[in-house]
Amino acid sequence: MVPIKTVSQSKINIDSGLRDELVRWLDTSASKKLGYHSQAQFATEAVRKLLQEVTAPAKAGIHFILPNKEDNRLSLDLDIGDDKVLCNICNSESCIHVKTLYDDKYVKQQLKTHKIKLPVRK
Ligand SMILES: [Zn+2]
Repeated sequence: MVPIKTVSQSKINIDSGLRDELVRWLDTSASKKLGYHSQAQFATEAVRKLLQEVTAPAKAGIHFILPNKEDNRLSLDLDIGDDKVLCNICNSESCIHVKTLYDDKYVKQQLKTHKIKLPVRK
């Protein structure tokens, strides 16, 4: 006899109203079209997706470097995050480099060309 490899399963309680809604939906052609056929299959996939989402590493910011050959003091070396910009030269969020990043016409063009969006200025 060939041993059957089984994956152990556990029960988790969910709100009965939510379960009823799932049961109703699983009975529709829309759920079958998407390939769902059981509560366990649906719940397993839902939990797996949410777990991946909440345990994913935080998005790294963009390291933006723009040398200025005419005035080295105005070369830019910044980390652009979702909610803030940090200057790696001054270790500041409000220095001349951050101001240049937001205000300089040439820098703005570079950001646009590389599809880099700046966080809303504080
Ligand atoms: Zn700076």
